[in-house]
Amino acid sequence: MSVQIKNVEKSFGALKVVKGVSVDIADGEFFVMLGPSGCGKTTTLRMVAGLELPTAGEIRIGGRDVTYEEPRHRDIAMAFQDYGLYPHLSLRGNIEFPLKVRGVPEAERRTKVESVAQKMGISHLLDRKPGQISGGQRQRVALARALVRNPRVFLMDEPLSALDAKLRATMRTEIKKLVTELKITTIYVTHDQIEAMSMADRIAVMKDGDMVQIASPLEMYERPQTKFVAEFIGSPAMNLLPARARPDGRMACDLPVLAELLPDAELTANPVAPAKMAAYIGIRPEHLSLVEGGEGQADFEAVVDLVEPLGQTTNVYLNVGDIRMIAVVDRTRVQAGQRVGVKVRREALRLVAA
Ligand code: ATP
Repeated sequence: MSVQIKNVEKSFGALKVVKGVSVDIADGEFFVMLGPSGCGKTTTLRMVAGLELPTAGEIRIGGRDVTYEEPRHRDIAMAFQDYGLYPHLSLRGNIEFPLKVRGVPEAERRTKVESVAQKMGISHLLDRKPGQISGGQRQRVALARALVRNPRVFLMDEPLSALDAKLRATMRTEIKKLVTELKITTIYVTHDQIEAMSMADRIAVMKDGDMVQIASPLEMYERPQTKFVAEFIGSPAMNLLPARARPDGRMACDLPVLAELLPDAELTANPVAPAKMAAYIGIRPEHLSLVEGGEGQADFEAVVDLVEPLGQTTNVYLNVGDIRMIAVVDRTRVQAGQRVGVKVRREALRLVAA
């Protein structure tokens, strides 16, 4: 089912923590709210769930206004980072709980629990208690319990944050596969950009109670509209050089060659960065390449400050006068202290709003 959030606001006393958020989430979409701690992600999710009332605005699920409806009438399921499993119940007891409270007969419960347990790969554990399984398995049980009712909308708040890095990576693939197969509209809250990038159909980057940009992962990566988004997505972060508008409509920048190379189309491409605003010229680290020896072909020269070989790629920190930049290249023989030529992938240069 589709979910519409229309001009939704939430204040706690005098503090406005969600400031007029609007988004239409399509049926079956995997939508991720991404942002730093305190930006209002959880509060927005809780309003969709019906656990908080909006101070203003409207929430629709499947076209129906549910703004003031009880959570249990919304046909949604939720999973949180702390699982909320009942320790005294077996895994079977935990998973069938939402069916039991709805009075589903035992035979039907059994079939449903077994089907979802099989999907989650926990069929062999159903008679154990939550204390007798691993963290990743507990996470699967929590998901199974949320999904057993076959909800139309699935809300998840940092469901993987208690897991170690390896398990997180496995579980994010599993969750994505599962909800895509089940075609459940999913709203997923995280502060982890890798989770957001790898799972989302669309991401909303949130800051101070606003959705500052809503886009597909690739679009968000390739066309961040503001400095905040540019720095939040991508690691190492995008190189951003302060830029100013010139009277002739072009930009000026402390590394003038970047302003010269900036494609004309960039001056109009960013809806929130008209040339008059404070802005940055941005280039992702992988769009800088090093030209050893043939400095003539380079766009500018730099001194290598530090080389970090990571195996597959190498981070090369560069100083261009006072400006620090980072390039991500394949293997390289350059060393700290060396002068190198740097070539810019011109079509990847971006104008980014402050
Ligand atoms: P986190 O990742 O840390 O959970 P978040 O982006 O999900 O952050 P929210 O939990 O939505 O952020 O909180 C947004 C702001 O609202 C925070 O400043 C928080 O302190 C405040 N807040 C949340 N719930 C309440 C409440 N019940 N009463 C007062 N303030 C609250």
